[in-house]
Amino acid sequence: MRRLILAIPFALTLASCATSPTGRTQFMLVPPDVAINESRLAYAQTLEELTGSGRMLHDPALSERAGRITGRLVAAAVRTWPHTAGWEWSVALIDDPEMVNAWCMAGGRMAIYSGLVSKLDLSDDELAQVMGHEIAHAVANHSAEQMSLAIVQGLAVAAVGIETGNRDKANAADMLATVALSLPNSRGAEYEADQLGMELAHRAGYEPAAAVTLWNKMRAEGGSPGALQFLSTHPNPENRAARLAAQAERLRNQPPAQPPNSYPVRIHP
Ligand SMILES: [Zn+2]
Repeated sequence: MRRLILAIPFALTLASCATSPTGRTQFMLVPPDVAINESRLAYAQTLEELTGSGRMLHDPALSERAGRITGRLVAAAVRTWPHTAGWEWSVALIDDPEMVNAWCMAGGRMAIYSGLVSKLDLSDDELAQVMGHEIAHAVANHSAEQMSLAIVQGLAVAAVGIETGNRDKANAADMLATVALSLPNSRGAEYEADQLGMELAHRAGYEPAAAVTLWNKMRAEGGSPGALQFLSTHPNPENRAARLAAQAERLRNQPPAQPPNSYPVRIHP
C-alpha cells in the first residue's frame, strides 16, 4: 500500500485512460490486476467477519441454485473474456433476509444476500440477470475505476495514515476494495453493466425479458431500507426500463443460445 500511495502523485500526472468493452473511456489510476489483488484480501476479510458473526447462509437449495446459475454465466464470461479463466470465481451466500443486494468484486468474487432472492421472489432467469449485471461490472473493470475514484477521494486520509505510522495502513489496501464497492457506479458504468449483463445472461441461456421484470421488482421494492444499499451503488439510469425492454427485444430476435456447460464456481459456506 505504501508503494501504491507513494506512486500516486506520479500516477496522477500520468493518469491513464482505458477503454471498456463497450468503447467507453475509463479513468484508471488503479490497474485492473492491482484491483483484483486487493479484492482478494477484502473478500477474505469479509468472509472471516461474516463467519465470525454467524451471518453466512447455510441453505443447500440456494447453494445449488447459485452455483448452477453463476456457473453458466461464468462459463459464458470465460468464453468471451478468456483471461478471466484464471479468476477465483466464487459466491458468498449471506444470511440477511432484509438486504436486497449482490455484488461481484474484481477477480470474480461475488456475494448474494438472502433478501435479494426472498424479498423479490426471483426466478432463475431474474437471478441470472442480477448476477450477469454484477459480473459485467467486474469484467469491464468497474472495480478498478471505483478504486481509482476512492483513491482520489481518500488521498488525505491515506497520507495521514503514513505520516502517523498508523499500523492499520496495511489494511488500507483491502479497505480500498471494500470502499470501492460502496461507491455509486457512474451512469455510464450502469448502462454498460446492463448491456453486457443481459448479453452474458442470453449467452448463458437465460431469458432476456427477465431483466425487465427484475428491474420492475427492484423499483417496487426501492422504498424499503434493504433495497437502498443496492440502489445507492447501482443508480437507476434514465429510461432504464425502456432501454432494457428494447435490448430484450433485440436479443430475443437472435437465435437462442446453447447453454454452456457450467463452470465450477466455489460457493461459500
Ligand atoms: Zn450496477
